[in-house]
Amino acid sequence: MTLAGRFAPSPSGELHVGNLRTAMLAWLFARSTGRAFLLRVEDLDRARAGAEAVQLRDLQAVGVTWDGEVVRQTDRESLYASTIDRLTAAGLAYECFCTRREIQEAPSAPHAPQGAYPGTCRDLSGPEREAKRAVRPAATRLRSAVTEWTVADALHGGFTGVVDDFVLRRNDGVAAYNLAVVVDDAEQGIDQVVRGDDLLPSTPRQAYLASLLGYAVPEYAHVPLVLNADGARLAKRDGAVTLGDLAREGYSAAQVAARVLASLGLPATLDAALAVFDPARIPREPWIWQGMSAG
Ligand code: GLU
Repeated sequence: MTLAGRFAPSPSGELHVGNLRTAMLAWLFARSTGRAFLLRVEDLDRARAGAEAVQLRDLQAVGVTWDGEVVRQTDRESLYASTIDRLTAAGLAYECFCTRREIQEAPSAPHAPQGAYPGTCRDLSGPEREAKRAVRPAATRLRSAVTEWTVADALHGGFTGVVDDFVLRRNDGVAAYNLAVVVDDAEQGIDQVVRGDDLLPSTPRQAYLASLLGYAVPEYAHVPLVLNADGARLAKRDGAVTLGDLAREGYSAAQVAARVLASLGLPATLDAALAVFDPARIPREPWIWQGMSAG
């Protein structure tokens, strides 16, 4: 299978300069190592009508190209379901009936890390499960044999994080992000995952699940986010932050791309940047967005 990197946006709205910067970095990591570059639309939830088309157009406008057809997660639900069946048959998944509130209020298990699922439904008897099914539909959780897992990251080194009995399928029947991302990356031949470092804490869960499923764990690079002037993650409300907003201020997509690349110490187009890209030299701190003219 061809080795590949990817960008996997959630079509919840327009991409802002932070999302575009992550996509450009993922493209540079993949292309500079001779990998294919795939685009996957993560539309299992938070999808807004029309957002995907605008995202794809904006990615192309800053020079991010991809190989093959765009993949959509909503077309792959049977793949997620058969993977969950496989885990269930191996005794590695169980039904959970807890509400968010019940989880918050449950006493945490001894030695369990903060925020970990307390294990309430892990060992329900058949009749107990039967009774709970009559009350509400079940989510499916992983029966994890570990409480933490370590991953290797190109920018963060070894990173150890919590692995609990995390959700594989929500109680509305939709595959959970942590399951879908692992299945998709493996099934698409993706062996390099470059994404925002807000996702680093989820990565040990994903790598552990990949190993249970017999998948090769991809290499990871979690890149710094773009923050607003207050140090919070950049968002739509922070003024002109999308290509659409910036076009209304008179900036072309090429100018925005050049601005983003300058924040990485790179020349003004992706093709020029590719010729000199060195992952070891990308900034390790977040980029503070102060508009096109400053920062
Ligand atoms: N769809 C996720 C997001 O937009 C990214 C998931 C990933 O790159 O693994 O935040």
